[in-house]
Amino acid sequence: MAEIELRHIEKHFGPVHVIKDVNLTVKDKEFVVFLGPSGCGKTTTLRAIAGLEEIDSGDILLDGKPIQGLRAADRDIAFVFQNYALYPHFTVFENLAFPLRAVGTAKDVVDRTVRSVGKSLGILHLLNARPSALSGGDMQRVAIGRALVRRPKALLLDEPIGSLDAKLRETMRIELKRLHYENGSTSIYVTHDQVEAMSLADRIVVMNDGVLQQVGTPTEVYLYPANLFVAQFIGSPVMNIAATKVSEADGNARIALDDASFDLPRELLGMLEQKQAAPDLSLGVRPEGVIVSRDDKPGYRPAEAHIIQPFGGFDIVDLKFGEKTLRARTSSGYVDKPGATVFARIDPAQAHFFDTRSGASLG
Ligand code: ATP
Repeated sequence: MAEIELRHIEKHFGPVHVIKDVNLTVKDKEFVVFLGPSGCGKTTTLRAIAGLEEIDSGDILLDGKPIQGLRAADRDIAFVFQNYALYPHFTVFENLAFPLRAVGTAKDVVDRTVRSVGKSLGILHLLNARPSALSGGDMQRVAIGRALVRRPKALLLDEPIGSLDAKLRETMRIELKRLHYENGSTSIYVTHDQVEAMSLADRIVVMNDGVLQQVGTPTEVYLYPANLFVAQFIGSPVMNIAATKVSEADGNARIALDDASFDLPRELLGMLEQKQAAPDLSLGVRPEGVIVSRDDKPGYRPAEAHIIQPFGGFDIVDLKFGEKTLRARTSSGYVDKPGATVFARIDPAQAHFFDTRSGASLG
């Protein structure tokens, strides 16, 4: 068992309030990713769990027991740093063996464990090499291996593949996922890369300015963002967000965006009324929720295609409805050139509404 619980964690660095009343339970064997922009407090929270940073108040519990009084070395939690932090004068074998030797593990157990971890990370052939001879990916494999040899209760990883190139990051991401699938230790992973977060996490914790914005599965945070921040932070290309006014017209809910308007099912009015919608509303719709047709059809509005970005399997097309631009996802080559007139509607199942002032999702 290794469940990590944070209760009302607070942390200041001088006058800067870095962690604000953070509450979270990471379940046994769960892979949780802290995702947020630079400076939002992800690393500080991770370091606090590891015992590398003191908190001002609150409780950090491992399997129900407070651990903030324990030194980092006594917490049975391993930490993987972005910059690897390998011992340069040691071989890979010695780096991997170090945490075991430090607690007086018998030689044959050290040998067996290092080989087993080395095998699972695909670095057996590098055991006699020194870190300076390794590629970035292999250095990070050794750093992860060193964290795993003592079979810690929990594994904390701070942007562990952030300094690798894009191709290698993808390879390492899949390896990390496999490793967790095979070993399954409770893991918390920090990144500002939403693709990494989406592909690795059982649950994503979206942070901004020291506050947890939303905790949910990748699908939940993508499909049901709790607020405007999450809506715009998750998803690439980003969700279209536009100030809107909603009114009843011709038996529909009419969504007005400057000089463009779209009709959505009437039930939307009831839903917004029920939520006591604020006067300032924002519509959010992901590019795949803007449905494009070459032909005029009922409910579709004319638009002029502007920038077209081909991504191979699909295109992202900027559509101008007068002054308002919405970004749409189409099949590859569907809109043949900028300037073409096309028609579009908004898929009601993919329309989100937010209170513009508080940012909160209204559904
Ligand atoms: P990044 O991805 O850039 O590491 P982060 O979300 O992990 O960002 P933190 O590293 O936790 O954010 O930093 C949160 C805030 O605390 C930032 O404003 C940072 O400048 C500040 N900070 C972090 N460590 C210290 C420190 N030791 N002393 C003073 N301020 C600090």
